[in-house]
Amino acid sequence: MLPFKVIYHPQYDLDLGSHVFPSQKFRLIHDALLAEGIAEASDFLRPEPAPDEDILRVHTPEYVKKLLTDSLTLSERMKLEIPLTELTRNGFWLAAGGSTLAGRKALEDGFAANLSGGFHHAYPGHGEGFCMIHDVAVAIRSLQAAGKIRMAMTVDTDVHHGNGTAAIFANDPSVFTLSIHQENNYPDPKPPSDEDIGLADGTRDHEYLDALEEGFLHALKKIAPDLIFYVGGADPFREDQLGGLALTMEGLQHRDRMVFDHARRRGIPVASTLAGGYARRVADTVRIHVNTIVAARDVIQQRFPAENK
Ligand SMILES: [Zn+2]
Repeated sequence: MLPFKVIYHPQYDLDLGSHVFPSQKFRLIHDALLAEGIAEASDFLRPEPAPDEDILRVHTPEYVKKLLTDSLTLSERMKLEIPLTELTRNGFWLAAGGSTLAGRKALEDGFAANLSGGFHHAYPGHGEGFCMIHDVAVAIRSLQAAGKIRMAMTVDTDVHHGNGTAAIFANDPSVFTLSIHQENNYPDPKPPSDEDIGLADGTRDHEYLDALEEGFLHALKKIAPDLIFYVGGADPFREDQLGGLALTMEGLQHRDRMVFDHARRRGIPVASTLAGGYARRVADTVRIHVNTIVAARDVIQQRFPAENK
């Protein structure tokens, strides 16, 4: 049994077939957590789709209407890079509801994980790079509107810069955005986050972990968030097809533990989401995301006290 809740819905699977985005990963992560005895059925919560009212706290009425009436232009469809269907629309609304629920549960339990989300390339008025709805932004705005939090931080470790996040919260001092990413990669341009750590091609574990720790601690000196959203991309992995960093599986798990540990020491709740992950073997992407859950469990149960000093 896990010391926190994991948010999952069978309809997270976007059923994209042979697309580079392995949309079956959501189900595979869920199944692996159960099969390996890391989680049990009672650890999972099933989200509702985010209400349109919450979606509209982030996205423009024009864009939401286009999504609901299937009237994106051809260029908007190409930018999105995944099809707009009833299934995918439902999956993104569920992901936003799931991240919101993860935020609420994290405030109660100190940690919670959404087994979807991290769709950080979505802008208020358009979607891009496989991201239709910005689930993390919807969650933050919803929790702020409900009076659950005032200040939030996003820690985005996907190999691609969090351009949508940066744009949405550009002029909002209540949300501090941190992105650590490969500089020479999509997206271009990269609107500035509050803290951007742009890494050189081929960056390895040690250098990555040092840069992230320094940037994260620097950020925590500037803001005391009520909640951190951790966007745990699997694509800094050295065998990722869309990434050019060189992290190992162990380095990635160390990354997760380090962020969770620093937050825990300060009593800051963390809600984690997935994000990208395009390893040549889908099983590797699944393993990296499963390891994030294990990292959170280990930090909460203090199984790695010496390593996180
Ligand atoms: Zn990515």
